Amino acid sequence: MSAPWTLPDFDDHEDLHVFRDPKAGLTAIIAIHSTHLGPAGGGTRFWHYADPAAAMTDALRLSRGMSYKNAMAGLAMGGGKAVILADEHRQKSPELIAAFAAAVDKLGGRYVTAQDVGISQQDIIDISKGTRFVSGLPPKQGGAGGDPGPSTALGVFLGVKAAVARGLGKADVAGVHVAIQGVGSVGGGLARHLAAAGARLTLADKDADRALALAKELGGVAIDADAILAIEADVLSPCALGAILNDATIPALNVPVIAGGANNQLARPDHGAAVQARGILYAPDYVINAGGIINVALEYLDQADRAAVNAKIAGIPDRLNAVWDESAATGDHPACVADRMAQALIGRG
Ligand code: NAD
Repeated sequence: MSAPWTLPDFDDHEDLHVFRDPKAGLTAIIAIHSTHLGPAGGGTRFWHYADPAAAMTDALRLSRGMSYKNAMAGLAMGGGKAVILADEHRQKSPELIAAFAAAVDKLGGRYVTAQDVGISQQDIIDISKGTRFVSGLPPKQGGAGGDPGPSTALGVFLGVKAAVARGLGKADVAGVHVAIQGVGSVGGGLARHLAAAGARLTLADKDADRALALAKELGGVAIDADAILAIEADVLSPCALGAILNDATIPALNVPVIAGGANNQLARPDHGAAVQARGILYAPDYVINAGGIINVALEYLDQADRAAVNAKIAGIPDRLNAVWDESAATGDHPACVADRMAQALIGRG
């Protein structure tokens, strides 16, 4: 593997750590992109990578993304990410989790971990037995923390409303047609908020039964997962996969607004310009989907209650509007503007 600082995704990361504990089966990378605003917060991904370079690239890319997301959410947290290199069967053991907790602890709070792909809530509880630098623990009565999905869904709902106001000039979402790709934790929660607010829903999920059941419950329509990205609607809300805005899908889009919770929706940075060229208003993903990180960060930083979490999530529309204002003023597409704002906030402008 080339030296990590020669990789294209290296972005003057403050530090990069490799932890190995062969007895416990642990190989982990912890990348700290920035601590400018506070301890580097970001989840742990437990994943089988094709090779160590792929794991390093993931850690570099995801930790930079966390710096941007945390900064734009107005959190006193920097950005970091851990990846644990899993075997091909993705087998975990208590020893591996304990060794990982010890690794996080060694960093003395420069990095604060949380849940990500392949790490369960139980893993987080187990990690907390070996380090206090962990967030996303089950919430105490009325407290912050726990499953980030509902908080993310709430933030995306508020962001959709802001996008509808901005892009369609409508003060609320009653009667507005929203097409949601993926109705899991985030997309399902969003659908419920939208239904309660009187929106018209078209839902699609790889798990067709899931979309059908929710459409029945909420009075919407379920369609084939392959058809959702080209459907004619007021808003497309991607809440499943990344990279769904790409060379193949952008020409076929049939909506004036895209606002959804999925991470990394643009396959490449220049796809932001391609979406803008189609006259579509785009809500940058890490700005609109910050509700979950707000929930776990406030739990870690303050032991704040739900009201404080919801108040911070309520700031998402203002942050989106600030991005759209600058986009309108400069002509730069919203994702590019959001990156620039985040870089300035972390002292790299
Ligand atoms: P989830 O696993 O609960 O739900 C994802 C849903 O998408 C599932 O129902 C799945 O069947 C469906 N899906 C997968 N591939 C699909 C496809 N090709 N077409 C249609 N549906 C498909 O996951 P989630 O927690 O709801 O996360 C959804 C997205 O939001 C992910 O991109 C995630 O990274 C992002 N996100 C989640 C959170 C959170 O708090 N959970 C926070 C920020 C960002």
